[in-house]
Amino acid sequence: MIALPTSGNSSEFLFRKFTFFRGRVALAAILRALGIRSGDTVAIQAFTCIAVPEAIMAVGAKPIFIDVVPNGFTMDATDLERKITGDTRAIVVQHTFGIPTDMAKIVQVSQKYSIPVIEDCCHTLVSTYQGQEVGSFGIASFYSFEWGKPIVVGMGGSARINDEALEQEIIRHYSDYKYPDSANQYRLQLQYIAFSIMFRPSLYWPTRSLYHRLSALKIAKGSYNPVGEVAEDFSLRMPLQLQHRLEHKLQYLNKHTSHSTWVVDEYRNRIQSTMITQAKIPGDSYVVFARYPLIVKEKEKCLNAARKAGVELADWYSTPIHPLGTQEWSLVHYQAGSCPNAEIMCQQVVTLPTHITVSQRDINRAVTFFNRLSV
Ligand SMILES: *Cc1c(COP(=O)(O)O)cnc(C)c1O
Repeated sequence: MIALPTSGNSSEFLFRKFTFFRGRVALAAILRALGIRSGDTVAIQAFTCIAVPEAIMAVGAKPIFIDVVPNGFTMDATDLERKITGDTRAIVVQHTFGIPTDMAKIVQVSQKYSIPVIEDCCHTLVSTYQGQEVGSFGIASFYSFEWGKPIVVGMGGSARINDEALEQEIIRHYSDYKYPDSANQYRLQLQYIAFSIMFRPSLYWPTRSLYHRLSALKIAKGSYNPVGEVAEDFSLRMPLQLQHRLEHKLQYLNKHTSHSTWVVDEYRNRIQSTMITQAKIPGDSYVVFARYPLIVKEKEKCLNAARKAGVELADWYSTPIHPLGTQEWSLVHYQAGSCPNAEIMCQQVVTLPTHITVSQRDINRAVTFFNRLSV
């Protein structure tokens, strides 16, 4: 089931071979090419964002939620085997924060039941598991280039296809995807310029509230679409301007990787608070973090203190299907209590940034903040 990538392509090219308007659109395109539709189910992990079930529901299928491993952020293969049924047509694993899923066990389940694996690589392009790059285990994988992802072009996603027949199917449907209209493209361009100025740890909290306000007013294109509708996004590809930006930025992938590694080394070595637990890195893997997770006892208090101290600290995921509150879980078919590990993690995880604008000063401030933390 592990087909070799199309020959002669550098991996940079694989990341931008089939581009779409967003990562979720790339996922929906993969599902569609696999023939997945109404009546089918797709296994995904709880501790994810709404974009993933949204893509599944956009092709008419239904998500089933698999728990994460205890004290971790990636899919538990045992729970997967327990929950799949005869209707399950795909397994989407998510390398959350850049931490690779334990693929050996997942691949076993996938082969035993002949259900293809799709990898959600939105948080990492280059982490490896047992020496093999994430995104190369499954039949296909997908990426996002939105804000908060390893490579940022403002909006956009791509699919990497590791199977010849599936690639032909993607190609067959690819011309159905249209470019966004010029008003939409213009807005994305303005948003990119504004964000380029504001996207830094010291401006995190004010930028965050401004962005939430602007997307509520529909001035900015928000991260979340209305639940239960198939958004126009699913018929769109990535604008050319963004494709060019992506091509350009992928040249600096190594720089991003080494920056993230440096930032995380600083956090790991210097944060020594007894109030937090550092993330476990699974054995035999090389992790390039999109964000660095910490487990705290009093998440809300910790976030409030970080806001006051001007330290960039994110709350995601704050619910098993971020940002849906308990009342909305049924809209995506999530049953309360069905993924207890994920529900616990949501109450305890906070994440520090690793992106390219994080400076030594930002690191120092974060380290001081955590080492003085008393909640
Ligand atoms: C961002 C993200 C997505 C969706 O990407 P979009 O480009 O916003 O559609 C999917 N999965 C994960 C884990 C993500 O972080």
